[in-house]
Amino acid sequence: MIQDIAPKVFHNEYQSVRPAAGDTVFVFREKKVLIAGYENEDIVFPKAGDLDAELQFLFRIDGQPYFLCPPEESERLSEEDTGSGSAFIPLMEARRSTDLPAMFACMTAYHLFTWYDRNRLCGRCGQPLQHSENERMLRCPNCGNCVFPTIAPAVIVGVTDGERLLMTKYADRAYKGWALIAGFCEIGETVEDTVRREVLEEAGIRVKNMRYVASQPWGSDSNLLIGMFCEADGATEIHMDREELSRAVWVQRADVPEMKDNHSLTGYMIEMFRTGKENEAS
Ligand SMILES: [Zn+2]
Repeated sequence: MIQDIAPKVFHNEYQSVRPAAGDTVFVFREKKVLIAGYENEDIVFPKAGDLDAELQFLFRIDGQPYFLCPPEESERLSEEDTGSGSAFIPLMEARRSTDLPAMFACMTAYHLFTWYDRNRLCGRCGQPLQHSENERMLRCPNCGNCVFPTIAPAVIVGVTDGERLLMTKYADRAYKGWALIAGFCEIGETVEDTVRREVLEEAGIRVKNMRYVASQPWGSDSNLLIGMFCEADGATEIHMDREELSRAVWVQRADVPEMKDNHSLTGYMIEMFRTGKENEAS
C-alpha cells in the first residue's frame, strides 16, 4: 500500500527549518499538484530553488526533508514563477507513479495542505492564525486558540457471504472502479458501530464476525482508513443506497477482478478476498 515505503522511514516530527535549493516542494491547487516534468516516466516535483515563495517544512523521509508551498503562496504563483514544462496534474494521476515514497509524500503533503488551507483564520475570533515555531500547530495571537492537524477516521468494509464479496461503485465520484462499502466514523460511534451502520445504510445488510485487517493514512481526503472484513448475518438481498452508490452486487470469488491498484486499502482488501486470504486478517 502507499504507506509501505520500507526500508525508507517516514518522520513527521516538526522542525522549524529552511529549505535547501534541492529540496522537494509540493505545490497544490484544488486537487492538483504541480510537477516540474517527467524522468523515465516518473514524476519530478519542483525544487525549492525553482520557486520564489515562502515555504513550510512538512516532514522527512529518511533524512530528506519535504516542503509545502502554503495555500496563499500557491495562489500567488504565476506560470512564469513555476518554470517551463511544469504543469498542475490531478492527484489521482500523480498516484500512478511507481516512485512510492514520493507518492506517499505527495498524498501526506496534500493532507497538510488541506489543513493549512482551511485554517487561515481563527475559527473562534476570525483573526489570522500564526504557525508555532516548535510544533505543527496554528495559534491565534488574539484569543489563544490552538489548532492542530485533523484526521478523519473512516472504514473500508469487505462484506462476505461464503464465496461472495459485496462490491460497489460510487454514484458521483471521479473514481469509477470497483470499491467496497466505506464511510466516515460519526461522533459517538465505535469503529464497529460505523461498520454496522454503513453496511446497513448502503446495502441493507446486517453483519457479524468483524475482523480488523489494516489501516491506511489517505491524505487526499484527510482520512485514516480502517479496513474490516465481516460476514453477512441473515438475509443477503441487497437494498442499495442510490444516493451513495451506483452499484452494489455480490461477486463470486472467481469473478472478482484483479486489482491493478496496489496503493489503496480497498485494492489490497479486494485482492485478499480474490486470493482466498480474507481469513488471514488479524
Ligand atoms: Zn482567535
